[in-house]
Amino acid sequence: MTTEQREKRQIGDNRNFSVNKEVKSLSLSLSPLICSSTTRREKNRREEYIYIGNRNFWTLIPYYSGSWIWRKLCKLRSVARPFVVCEIGSGMTASFWQDNWTGLGPLIDLTGPTGPQVIGLPLKAVGNMRECVDDDVFLWKTDHHPPSCLFSSLKTWLALNPLDNPVAWHKSVWFKDRIPKHAFICWVVAWNRLHTRDRLTSWGLSVSPFCVLCNACHESRDHLFFECVFSQEVWMFFTSRANLTPPSSFMASLLWIKTVSRDSNLSLILKLIFQADIYLLWKERNSQIHSSTTRPPASIIRDIYVMLRARLDPLSRIQLAAAPGSSLLSTWFRFFG
Ligand SMILES: [Zn+2]
Repeated sequence: MTTEQREKRQIGDNRNFSVNKEVKSLSLSLSPLICSSTTRREKNRREEYIYIGNRNFWTLIPYYSGSWIWRKLCKLRSVARPFVVCEIGSGMTASFWQDNWTGLGPLIDLTGPTGPQVIGLPLKAVGNMRECVDDDVFLWKTDHHPPSCLFSSLKTWLALNPLDNPVAWHKSVWFKDRIPKHAFICWVVAWNRLHTRDRLTSWGLSVSPFCVLCNACHESRDHLFFECVFSQEVWMFFTSRANLTPPSSFMASLLWIKTVSRDSNLSLILKLIFQADIYLLWKERNSQIHSSTTRPPASIIRDIYVMLRARLDPLSRIQLAAAPGSSLLSTWFRFFG
């Protein structure tokens, strides 16, 4: 059974006369422009655009014998269709019922399947503006701005996935001059998505629940990164040198680090240390599981020193070239050198 036959069968099932009346008056006002009986040449040209064989792209049911990618694309039509807007030119390619040329969406969606019968315009009617030589143009509309002939994946993504309010800690993770791989791990930890042992056991996996670093308490995000004696030794080494007393839980520390100091240099350094600490603790924990090698907290501290010096050196050069004064490295040496 073709799509058209299915639609004929649905006639009478869903009569929406109030909407049909509105569209009928719309069609009457546009009657000089609308031509439902096109010449053979015009018809052929129209079908090149909106028909595949004898079937409209928006309503056709793909054959099971069609390719996998074609059937997947057809499944996405309902997602893509609201973005497609038709700007009428000659009207030879725009479908009166199926294309969104009024800004209200396809008219067939407003009237229901009985619309063509009630109004007297066949489903394949086109809006033919006899005096216009320009072709119809299909545009992409993602927001309240006018539709565009340019496709923007960013705008489309944002239209499909509207941004939520930013989380309170996002500036603790995504700040300027961060070390990308450290920030990424910190972001994953912030959402508690690392495969810590408390999560593995909750999924039914048969693993020891004990912390790899201390082997005394159950491993969880908060324990691994802040409550564990191993982790505390590393983190307290740096915060004590900055004369600071940090919170003891991960989330409280993440919010605390956002406004840790009025000194912008010290604030950036502590954020970098915080993220390097998390990155190296996770790396050490995995190293102990997979290679059975262990390192003391002092070794992690040494690694943080190396990483921070390597990061702060180029940043200080840029800083001093722009405005001579107290550099990141001088602040580093004042507190941690
Ligand atoms: Zn521990």
